[in-house]
Amino acid sequence: MAEFLGVDVGSISTKLALINEEGEVLSEVYLRTEGQPIEAIKRCMEKVRKDISSWDSLEVKGVGTTGSGRVLAATIIGADIAKNEITSQAVATLYLNPRVRTIFEIGGQDSKIIILQNGIVVDFAMNTICAAGTGSFLDHQAFRLKIPIEEFGDYALQSTNPVRIAGRCTVFAESDMIHKQQLGYEKKDIIAGLCEALVRNYLNNVAKGKRICPPIFFQGGVASNSGIRRSFEKELGVEVIVPEHHEVMGAIGAALLAKEEVENTGKETSFRGFDLVDKEYRTRGFECEGCPNHCEVVEIFIEEELVACWGDRCGKWSFTYSEVEAGR
Ligand code: SF4
Repeated sequence: MAEFLGVDVGSISTKLALINEEGEVLSEVYLRTEGQPIEAIKRCMEKVRKDISSWDSLEVKGVGTTGSGRVLAATIIGADIAKNEITSQAVATLYLNPRVRTIFEIGGQDSKIIILQNGIVVDFAMNTICAAGTGSFLDHQAFRLKIPIEEFGDYALQSTNPVRIAGRCTVFAESDMIHKQQLGYEKKDIIAGLCEALVRNYLNNVAKGKRICPPIFFQGGVASNSGIRRSFEKELGVEVIVPEHHEVMGAIGAALLAKEEVENTGKETSFRGFDLVDKEYRTRGFECEGCPNHCEVVEIFIEEELVACWGDRCGKWSFTYSEVEAGR
């Protein structure tokens, strides 16, 4: 059996998916990046190494990476391809359901909308500036209300009378929630109101001007929140589908892209193996003084070997896997 690995490294979370040739998910990991992407990648790999320790055989034939840390991840793991998040999300979605027309993706730090037509991405938008509606904002509100984030959606679903919350930005939303708490509204109604406000914010900003057609897939960490899903359905009047592995769809897409890459090229994978978790990785930066640009160059070492270098504007220092560069 051949397996394929996908890794999605974002600023808030790192996700990993191991799939088989049929695209079935054999193992998945979702954890916080906590500002240490290399450590997060290693922790993901460690978890999978544990999961597979009892298997008779495992042969990783291809590895793909995605997310804002995709080039770093590709270097560390030894990937065969690195692709942007839009492509990876779309590939995973279309593999599950080729009829999907719209993807809502809301992660820890940003949100996206992807419009598909006949299995092709025809439009997309991303919001990386406003945190209102993203996972980190919801985490913060759950903490403030002393509710486990996993129960946030259930609270919202219990409400029959959501309170109107100003959701334009995080500052307004939070101060309005505090105001509504002081007026004595129940938590469930405030949380339901917050879900509705965040959905309005998403539809008026990220999805502004986009033609939203069903079937709609809702993915990313925030898709676990059933209150947000219900608010989307209420606002749009159509079903919003949350796929089973919604948190790791980017990683699944990266794994599928790696499968396609090795099948098309017939190349051997560059994968360094799960034992990379035992190795010492370190980064070092320096300022190039070759010209007035003063580029900040980053070097990556595995043990004492320099494996990658980037950050320069002229190409004087940079090198990564040529396959990775080609697939970017
Ligand atoms: S890396 Fe190139 S562009 Fe950057 S400072 Fe050095 S010489 Fe200038």
